[in-house]
Amino acid sequence: MNIVCLDLEGVLVPEIWIDFAELTGIDELRATTRDVPDYDELMRMRLSVLAKHELGLPDIEQVIDRMAPLEGAKAFLDGLREQYQVVILSDTFYEFARPLMRQLAWPTLFCHKLGVEPDGRISAYHLRLRDHKRKAVEAFRGLNFRTVAAGDSYNDTTMLGAADAGILFRAPRNVVDEFPQFPLVNDYDSLRARVDEAFARMDG
Ligand SMILES: [Mg+2]
Repeated sequence: MNIVCLDLEGVLVPEIWIDFAELTGIDELRATTRDVPDYDELMRMRLSVLAKHELGLPDIEQVIDRMAPLEGAKAFLDGLREQYQVVILSDTFYEFARPLMRQLAWPTLFCHKLGVEPDGRISAYHLRLRDHKRKAVEAFRGLNFRTVAAGDSYNDTTMLGAADAGILFRAPRNVVDEFPQFPLVNDYDSLRARVDEAFARMDG
């Protein structure tokens, strides 16, 4: 009856766009939802930069194929899945996440989809549902699951607020300061302990 909802980038895997920016040397692509809270603004900027540099999905996949989950992420996730249902709620895209999901043994992932032209050019992005992280948590609670959610960015805070318990994981200072109602942890052992405590409290 317990579901743990996890953000993906910054919690289980690195920020995909930052790694991509480093390989290509395009600094404009370093921005994330940590820097630009308006997700549409951020994505429009990213797609226009990709188009300007004539970079398509195959180029991005080459980078992501060389990425790995964060150190300890796989063991943390495996342990969590022994005890709880785990759903990853992310604002990334299935096309980008796939190589990393393989390395994490294909956990359940709810995210978005890209529009890719036959020549590999990314022409659009399709948000499955706006504010889907929060809505997923609310739907799980409507199905009589108890939820604990963890994330690191602005785009996680509505999900954290909707869950029975919300936890910040390795969040930057501005997010921690703005959302003091959520406890902050910085390693997987502490995150697991917080999750266990939160569910134990609900049992008590
Ligand atoms: Mg994140």
